[in-house]
Amino acid sequence: MFRIVAAITSLEQHFVAIARTPNVYRPVACPQCGLGGLWRHGHYHRKADRGQQDGASRNLVPVPRFRCRGCRGTCSRLPACIAPRRWYDWAVQQLVLLCLLSGGSFHQASRQCGVGRHTARRWWAWLGARHETFAFFLRSRFPEWGRAPDRESFWRTGLDGMPLHEVMAWLDQELTVP
Ligand SMILES: [Zn+2]
Repeated sequence: MFRIVAAITSLEQHFVAIARTPNVYRPVACPQCGLGGLWRHGHYHRKADRGQQDGASRNLVPVPRFRCRGCRGTCSRLPACIAPRRWYDWAVQQLVLLCLLSGGSFHQASRQCGVGRHTARRWWAWLGARHETFAFFLRSRFPEWGRAPDRESFWRTGLDGMPLHEVMAWLDQELTVP
């Protein structure tokens, strides 16, 4: 799975950390072979903030890369404010999912949150495909997630106390433990 730095929750924080404390992004160990002591290996740039109003200068965000001195594999780490492989940030995604979880249609979610209907449908399918796995890990760790009788109230109650970017950063850590 992807790897997320949970403590970096805004793009402002990310830009400061990239410039001043880049080591917060360094993974403890290589995700391919498990060896520690990864080297910094430049950045790649990706789009991050179509759902935000930060201005055009923030359209490309640097993401730090690391190289393993053992297997020579590379990996990268994302701050929690950027959703992996996704254009919109977690906050917009959470709004869309909450709208759908409350019985809204794809059309309503799309209009209320300013995303395409196709995107809303894709996010809903994404959650549906991972629900059992995510629910298993979340229920085992957070008792308050365990009381909901169905999938809709499970996520509605859970996201009420823990925003989606935190949920995903936590799951990311759990699911990448060797
Ligand atoms: Zn390695």
